Amino acid sequence: MSLKIDPWSAPKTLDYERLLKVFGIRPFKELIPLFTEKGIPLSLHMRRGIIFGHRDLDRIINAYSRGEKVAVLTGFMPSGRFHFGHKMTADQLIYYQRLGFKVFVALADAEAFAVRRLPRSEIVRIGIEEYVANLIALGLDAEKTVFYFQTNRGTPYYRLIQLFSGKVTMSEMEAIYGDLTPGKVMAAFTQASDILHVELPEYGGYKHVVVPVGADQDPHLRLARDLADRMKGVVDLLPPASTYHTLIPGLDGAKMSSSRPDYTIFLTDPPELARRKLMAALTGGRPTAEEQRRLGGMPDKCVVFQLYRYHLVPDDETLRAIREECETGRILCGPCKRRAADMLVEFLRDHQEKLKSAVEVARRVVEPPSF
Ligand code: SF4
Repeated sequence: MSLKIDPWSAPKTLDYERLLKVFGIRPFKELIPLFTEKGIPLSLHMRRGIIFGHRDLDRIINAYSRGEKVAVLTGFMPSGRFHFGHKMTADQLIYYQRLGFKVFVALADAEAFAVRRLPRSEIVRIGIEEYVANLIALGLDAEKTVFYFQTNRGTPYYRLIQLFSGKVTMSEMEAIYGDLTPGKVMAAFTQASDILHVELPEYGGYKHVVVPVGADQDPHLRLARDLADRMKGVVDLLPPASTYHTLIPGLDGAKMSSSRPDYTIFLTDPPELARRKLMAALTGGRPTAEEQRRLGGMPDKCVVFQLYRYHLVPDDETLRAIREECETGRILCGPCKRRAADMLVEFLRDHQEKLKSAVEVARRVVEPPSF
């Protein structure tokens, strides 16, 4: 049975098991012995099973341990505010940067223009002040990162886009993406160039590239990998590696998204507003306090627990203790939410303090397109 994913409009939930089976994504956990053998620490999201799948990450890890040049690349569409779903990707970039990977961040302004139809000046402002600034405030080293707007990237990058368009048929594109518009076709080839262009000598010649994505973005990886193979004889490209993470839910349990501000926590939310949002979040609590004390809560169905797990509690032992308190009914949802809200407010206050200077750095390190 076919499984199509529209990366521009993801369904509320994805069947991760099917994704592994249908598209041949490998389980991440099979790589844990390789990380151990090479003495490479796992990231928080790897340890907690949030990163659940990969393609060819073993090739990248082996290249890294041989001392070869390695890179990580991701893209953000600058069309809304930076939220905790984006932070998940930011944390992975920071993890790889601290290992010594070169980091590339594409600001997908061409895509925002084609798919979201926003004014250019607004796209550029959001790209710099929301995305780049928040990434820097979270800890990405601006001096060691290449941030670029797609429309500014130069001739070889655009040459790839044009050459790619001769290597795929429309029905192959539709088999990957479903229904397409001209804007989405352009956006898809542009994303493929984002992923592959860093292999060109003009951009550093990074042959071992990993792209961490939410599972809904897999179509872009499948296209880029196919194109890398089909460009043989034109230019030498290796298929990119990728990792796949589960998406953090919004506060009502559905998708976290800029277009759903009541159910999404933004990193620029006033802390007390974020507290109110969190206090209204869906939990895995029981209908009555008596039942919860008797049966325990259900952390795996609880949005608040997912916030602890993805973001608020870096220490594994503390997270394990929170799970146990919940599952044994020793804590009720009210006090548990208040504890999470206190952690969230503290995080946001600290982050927003860093953001003040990060905006200035972002304006300095990213060149805006001239129109
Ligand atoms: S006690 Fe906490 S973790 Fe457990 S269901 Fe309630 S809010 Fe969620």
